[in-house]
This record gives sequence, structure tokens and C-alpha cells, in this order.
Amino acid sequence: SSWWRSVQPAPKDPILGVTEAFLADQSPDKVNVGVGAYRDDNGKPVVLECVREAERRIAGNLNMEYLPMGGSVKMVEETLKLAYGENSELIKEKRIAAVQALSGTGACRLFADFQKHFCPDSQIYIPVPTWANHHNIWRDAQVPQKTYHYYHPESKGLDFAAMIDDIKNAPNGSFFLLHACAHNPTGVDPSEEQWREISHHIKAKGHFAFFDMAYQGFASGDPEKDAKAIRIFLEDGHHIGIAQSYAKNMGLYGQRVGCLSVLCEDEKQAVAVKSQLQQLARPMYSNPPVHGALIVSTILSDPDLKKQWLKEVKIGMFCYSGLTPEQVDRLTNEFHIYMTRNGRISMAGVTTGNVKYLANAIHEVTK
Ligand code: PLP
Repeated sequence: SSWWRSVQPAPKDPILGVTEAFLADQSPDKVNVGVGAYRDDNGKPVVLECVREAERRIAGNLNMEYLPMGGSVKMVEETLKLAYGENSELIKEKRIAAVQALSGTGACRLFADFQKHFCPDSQIYIPVPTWANHHNIWRDAQVPQKTYHYYHPESKGLDFAAMIDDIKNAPNGSFFLLHACAHNPTGVDPSEEQWREISHHIKAKGHFAFFDMAYQGFASGDPEKDAKAIRIFLEDGHHIGIAQSYAKNMGLYGQRVGCLSVLCEDEKQAVAVKSQLQQLARPMYSNPPVHGALIVSTILSDPDLKKQWLKEVKIGMFCYSGLTPEQVDRLTNEFHIYMTRNGRISMAGVTTGNVKYLANAIHEVTK
């Protein structure tokens, strides 16, 4: 038919395209350090033991009913404790509007739509660099984007002074997207002291801090420590928003289980905000999927399984290698090594079997 004659192929996703190219490569030496997913030492996908045990416990008990629009109440409750603290007064006071979301991406998108709906003239400040999909998400929600300084290529660290300047120079009441921990793609996070300063300046300007927390547990190995930035902002009295995901830290990638929360002034406001978040979800996907949420709530509400999960959350995923796009191209073309052109290496793709080959290849293209 002639209906779609004007449709051109969409550009390849810079991250997912790496895996496609890897799968098409016939070389026995090929290595994929592109994708952010756990692999065992043979490069095979990993399912955490706590997840396997949760699956055993829920097998047969699972009905296929719809979840409420806001998702699993139990999962959301446990998820908020991870971000806001086990004994958070804010949770007890019911000041947090929270809904189950389609993993971290869905949580970000739901927030972006909410932002557009209720602050139609606002913009979002996004770090340079960031996870590429952030740009797509806020673009499709029709929220204009600005950037702020983050990474300092020379020192391969944080460009703290420039970041603070950008916070100060943004119009009062701007929205700032912050990576709560294990910044993707650089792996560079502010120190605790720096977070305190960032929080101070964001507060002084009346900005809104939105935390994307896709890797809680991956920066320090401990989800509680990785919530430090959020706790500092809470201490300072911010009204923050948080996107949480279990894709990485529970290895539940394809289950699409996450949570969006917005901290409100009081319970009444939280009820209103939650109802509007549900209203946004209703015409998009109606209600979120049930299985992943049940795995998460089974693990986190059982002290033994939770302990086991905390043991299984390993440390670290991305390493910003400093390799140039040209060097990455050589690694791919000459050595069948696949990674994003910004030089980001997923350490989960490095195995006993390929580490030597990878190290030699990196040496060859950088000497
Ligand atoms: N945010 C960041 C910074 C990410 O790196 C990712 C995944 O790579 C996500 C969000 C979303 O992941 P998911 O939608 O699978 O939870």
C-alpha cells in the first residue's frame, strides 16, 4: 500500500546496534563489551540465585489477573524503602506518590510526560555525557533539553566547578536530571562532599532534582551506600523524583520492573500526584506487568532472600576507558571487539577467557 511510502528506516540505536553487529560477526574471537548486562565467565546470561529461588516459591501460585494501574503495592513499598530508607518518615507520612513503572526507561518517560503536563513551560538539564536514551525520552515527551557539564575528559573525572556553575546559571526552578550512582556511561560519581554542595546549590536556586537510579548497588556494591546522594537531598528538604529499575541490580532486564516516585508536600498532594501518574499510564499501557513485580516483592519481603540478593549484587559495570571513537572502530574492525564508540566498556562482558585477548587488542590500538 502507499500509506507508508514516506517512512525511512530509523537510525540504529547507538547501544543496541552494537549487539546486532556482534551477533552478525562470525569470528570465533569476537567479544561484546557493549551491553550493560551481567554475564558469567563463559559470557552467558546470569540469573541471580535469589531470583531462581523466588521463581520456585511463586511457581503455581501465580494468577494472571491485572495489577492495579499503579502496579504492585507490595513491590512499590519495598522499592521505596531502598531509595528513601528502611525507616523513612516520608514513607510513614505517605508523602511519596509512587507507581510501578516499565523499568527505568518507563519511569523516566512517565516522569517526563508528567513534567510536560503539569509544568508545560519547563526544560530539563541533562549531563554531558549521559545514557543516550535520556535525550530520546524527554524529546518524545516534548520537554526542551539543556545540558550541564559533568565529565572532564582530561582528568577522566568530574568537572565539578563547571557543573556547579551550570546549576547556578540555570533559570530558577529548572529541572535537573541526576544519575544517583554509577553514572552511565562514565562511571564517575560526585563524592559525598560534592553531593552536599550540589544539593545546596540546587536548593538555593529552587531547582527540581530528578534522580535516575538504574544501578543501585553497582557503584559501591551496597544499595544502601549507593542511595547516599538521595539521602543527602532528602536531609536538605528537596522534593525530588526518582526512577528506579531492577533491570541491572536484580538482573531482571526483560521483566521491565521499576518504579517512579515523586516526593510531595503532604499526603493529600501525594494522592493527587499518584492519581495523575496513573492517568498518564492508562492510555499508554493501562497497567504494568505482574511477574517481575512478584519476583521483586518476594525477594525483598523475605529477610533471607533479601540477604542473599545483597550478597549477589556485585560491584561495577561500566568503565569509561578513554578510547577514542577511531580506536573503538579499529577494535571492532580488526579484533571483532564490540563496544559503544564513546569507549565505554561493560566489565560484565570481560571473562577469564577473553581478558588477555581484549587487553592485547586495546594495547595494539593505543600504542
Ligand atoms: N537509566 C540509565 C542511566 C541506564 O543506563 C539505563 C539502562 O541502561 C536505564 C535508565 C534504563 O534501563 P531499564 O529501562 O532497562 O530499567
